[in-house]
Amino acid sequence: IAHYRDGAWEDVRLDALDPLSLAPHTQALHYGQAIFEGMKAYRNLGTDLPGTALLFRPHEHARRFNRSATRLGMPELDEDVYVATLERLVSTLDALVPERQGQSLYLRPTMFGATAHLSVVPSTEYCFVVLATPSDAFFTAPISAWIERRFSRAGPGGTGNVKAAGNYAASFAAAAPLAKLGFQQLLWLDAVHHTHIEEFTAMNVFVRRGDTILTPPLSDTILAGITRDSLLRLAGSLGLSMVEKPVDVAELVDAIASGEDVEVFGCGTGAVVAPVELIGDETGLRLPLPPFPVATRLRRHMLDLQHGVLPAPAGWQRPVPTR
Ligand code: PMP
Repeated sequence: IAHYRDGAWEDVRLDALDPLSLAPHTQALHYGQAIFEGMKAYRNLGTDLPGTALLFRPHEHARRFNRSATRLGMPELDEDVYVATLERLVSTLDALVPERQGQSLYLRPTMFGATAHLSVVPSTEYCFVVLATPSDAFFTAPISAWIERRFSRAGPGGTGNVKAAGNYAASFAAAAPLAKLGFQQLLWLDAVHHTHIEEFTAMNVFVRRGDTILTPPLSDTILAGITRDSLLRLAGSLGLSMVEKPVDVAELVDAIASGEDVEVFGCGTGAVVAPVELIGDETGLRLPLPPFPVATRLRRHMLDLQHGVLPAPAGWQRPVPTR
């Protein structure tokens, strides 16, 4: 945890998970000046890199953290300091990095406006805190997804393409009734026409139709997922054709309903790759999907990379030596 005051970071320390004491008029609680990242340290199960834990693409996460900070009028962190801080944390907590493939030490760097004031102006004080907890992949079985036709997540010019805490507030009312129906993720549509799929609650979306795998192009309403980027970069070497192209939801539903060979899967740091086995919506649509060989292959491949069992492209793995 660290505190930012008068243009400088101070009180940097490692603590057990203690409650924070905040004034009731802390800026972030009222106006949402809060951002975060989701990262993972995996046990090194393969490579001869000099580390027993591997951080996956931490510089990418640092850069996205800074894009989020800039969008919300918050101070950026030095990229190398961000990565070094996480390395030090993982190195100190090495005993908490799980040994089992698929599990990891989940890291949640968070920064919020800590000035106590009731006005919509940026804070002058910030709190930066990294939570660390051993975790499984968020989904260990195929998921069901709900096409959200009523509410929207992000509009043009908004904060949808950065990791602002407030982006997730849009999902609560939409997701509340779904848990009872057994659906785990919302599939958001574009907020203007409600015709194209954008992303899941906490994952980017891919659709395979025959030999072609599509994912919606990045825009100011879609988070630039680091897993999404990794899959796009790996596709060629895996002999897969992946294209960034808008996906019309009505066409997708028709293709599944008519028995076409279709896969839908989500991807993200938490979920890695999560195949969808059922799609539903408020009109009573309940469409089971056929088996998902490509998603299964991509999930295994990503985990092998992240655990160092397979060589990763240069710069993706950051070995963290044990202290
Ligand atoms: N979209 C949203 C809304 C998310 O919360 C996440 C998880 N960070 C993603 C996409 C996937 O991003 P990444 O692969 O960088 O974890």
